[in-house]
Amino acid sequence: MKIKDVIIIGGGPAGISCAIQLTRYDIEPLILEKEKLGGLLVNANYLENYLGFPRGIKGKDLTELLKEQLKKHKINVFFEEVMTLVSNKDFFEVTTNKSSYDSKFLVIASGTKPKEFKECPIPDKLAPKIFYEVYPLIDLKNKKIVIVGAGDAAFDYALNLSRENKVVILNRSESSNCLPVLLRRARESAEIDYIKNIKIQRISSSYGDRVKLECLTPEGSKNIEADFLLFAIGRMPCLDFLSAELSREVNEVKKNSRMYLAGDVKNGIFRQTAIAVGDGIMSAMKIYNKIKEEEK
Ligand SMILES: Cc1cc2nc3c(=O)[nH]c(=O)nc-3n(C[C@H](O)[C@H](O)[C@H](O)COP(=O)(O)OP(=O)(O)OC[C@H]3O[C@@H](n4cnc5c(N)ncnc54)[C@H](O)[C@@H]3O)c2cc1C
Repeated sequence: MKIKDVIIIGGGPAGISCAIQLTRYDIEPLILEKEKLGGLLVNANYLENYLGFPRGIKGKDLTELLKEQLKKHKINVFFEEVMTLVSNKDFFEVTTNKSSYDSKFLVIASGTKPKEFKECPIPDKLAPKIFYEVYPLIDLKNKKIVIVGAGDAAFDYALNLSRENKVVILNRSESSNCLPVLLRRARESAEIDYIKNIKIQRISSSYGDRVKLECLTPEGSKNIEADFLLFAIGRMPCLDFLSAELSREVNEVKKNSRMYLAGDVKNGIFRQTAIAVGDGIMSAMKIYNKIKEEEK
């Protein structure tokens, strides 16, 4: 069992900002990241609301800058997935797919996971054609991609992919929660077809392993074929690793000031990079204050 002062679960903007702030107090954190540094950010087409980039910045480019900053601060990152988390009196027991750790403080910055499409079955054969994040599709050219969803992510994905591909957005209702600026840009794009009031009833594979969608619209049935299908139908907090006891006690433990939640994992619909970064820094500052108090 390895004992750490602070373990941060997740190497997205919240986890990275927390780690950097901790090093400013000479506290050495360990980031446990299950997949890739930067988290969701790599999917963002253009961040226009993150200060310091007056012309906006691509999510992919900001991700590279965050990685560079992390490297400069020599922060330990282990690429391991946290599987279970248990709270003892003085430590949190963190078990990953590779190892186990005890940590005095814990920052949960594990972000969100996509909601799965469950309205009709998807044949296993089509698995390589189905996606929930845009980054694996970003280099595609001359393909047709259907995006299911009508929020910011669906329109952001569409604008990103439409530079080199044809995109169809399917919205099952009349209205969209999307930022007006994204909706306007999508409507102006000749490569994006936005269809409202359309429900997918059956998904199958068609000739050449394309995806065939049988849909219902107010005008009747409509079939759509695509090379890839990308779902953007909402996200939920990534907290599968919490023990049942800890998930019940999450608020109580937070009052104890040894466990902090930072970023999208706790922010409901208010999922933004600047907020996640602020949360990460605030968690680090609270941990430092707590350590100082205990030393008195
Ligand atoms: C299409 C799109 C466009 C966006 N555009 C903007 C924008 O214009 N402006 C803006 O401010 N924000 C934007 N965002 C939102 C922004 O990306 C998020 O708010 C931000 O990434 C949240 O950071 P986070 O660190 O809280 O979570 P995340 O970025 O989700 O990072 C969480 C990390 O935790 C890891 N993790 C999860 N579970 C475990 C586990 N069990 N063990 C180990 N690691 C784990 C994940 O792999 C991930 O790397 C956009 C998002 C999307 C999808």
